[in-house]
Amino acid sequence: IASRAVGQSARSVRFVDVAKRFGSVAAVADVNLTIAPGQFVTLLGPSGCGKSTTLSMIAGLELPSQGHIYIGDRDVTTVPPADRDIAMVFQSYALYPHLTIFENIAFPLRAKRRRTTETEVTRKVTDAARMLGLDKLLARFPREISGGQRQRVALGRAMVRTPTIYLLDEPLSNLDQQLRVQMRSELKDLHQRLGATMLYVTHDQGEAMTLSDIIAVMSAGRIEQVGAPRELYDRPANLFVARFLGEPGMNILNGDIGDGRLRGQGVAIALPPTVKAGPGGLCAGIRPEDLVLCPIPEAELTGVVRTVEFLGSRCLMRADIGDTLVTAFLPAEVTTQPGETVGLKASYPGRTRWFDVASGLAV
Ligand code: ATP
Repeated sequence: IASRAVGQSARSVRFVDVAKRFGSVAAVADVNLTIAPGQFVTLLGPSGCGKSTTLSMIAGLELPSQGHIYIGDRDVTTVPPADRDIAMVFQSYALYPHLTIFENIAFPLRAKRRRTTETEVTRKVTDAARMLGLDKLLARFPREISGGQRQRVALGRAMVRTPTIYLLDEPLSNLDQQLRVQMRSELKDLHQRLGATMLYVTHDQGEAMTLSDIIAVMSAGRIEQVGAPRELYDRPANLFVARFLGEPGMNILNGDIGDGRLRGQGVAIALPPTVKAGPGGLCAGIRPEDLVLCPIPEAELTGVVRTVEFLGSRCLMRADIGDTLVTAFLPAEVTTQPGETVGLKASYPGRTRWFDVASGLAV
């Protein structure tokens, strides 16, 4: 991040005690979040958690029921969308079918209030088109270009306005898998060249992980944790983030504390000296890729294999440990069969996370 230039026009975004209610539905509750100029920040969370509503409030398409939103130093809480200097790209990036690619990109500049000269329009459109690799397609119509190219046109239309903030709401979700991955790196590259503040909404974890400087994980209208992708993945602040991040998420093991161990059905995990159990009890979190097979006397987890899926580079095993279904990524060549009793342990015990059962918070 340090090596990237922050665009001159990049602005910060700040939410202070923001809430949005639709009748009795609390779509967003008490959000406090600061986004630094030039950062790429992703709002990530399950369907209905309030991501789009949060983005719409920055755009000015929804008014908060409570709190304030700042862009730079300016309180924009009640400023109309057109006066916020933002550009929004949605998943349904409707282009005008009867206009050429050039005119589609130029469209925002034609608005009367912008009073852009024709020379200026040509310069801005060709600059954006060159950056997006669309320069040879400007005379075509939307039906004559590919899905990925159309997506780039939608970005170009946002870029010519030189907004201080880009708001991107699942912009890649209409593309096939291969194109998504390609556009993902193009978007990252574009962000680095523009140095603009970008806010991105997705429920695709891979997208969030690869694109973002910062991810804000949301659930039920609240922000659960904010941080760099690796920080969130390695040190989830609570059980929700632990289970939500990762495909599949972190295994959570329950039991009682005794003799310096967490003990439950099929569970015997040594408690590190630094971890102290509160009255609510503890549970342990281990990522599927941190588990390895081991002889049963050494095992932290013992149970019966339910399924083994071959994934090419590795296998995904599911095993019943007591009444917890545990997932583990194992080497592709494992010969373990369903029905077999296996022992598992953490390959790096230091990576095992501990949570307070009552509060759900990491300890
Ligand atoms: P998705 O990933 O499915 O797009 P999201 O995280 O973007 O979901 P929002 O669209 O922000 O979620 O919606 C948050 C909550 O607010 C949901 O429960 C939704 O049903 C509700 N909601 C959103 N817009 C309205 C509205 N105009 N009227 C009533 N309820 C709404």
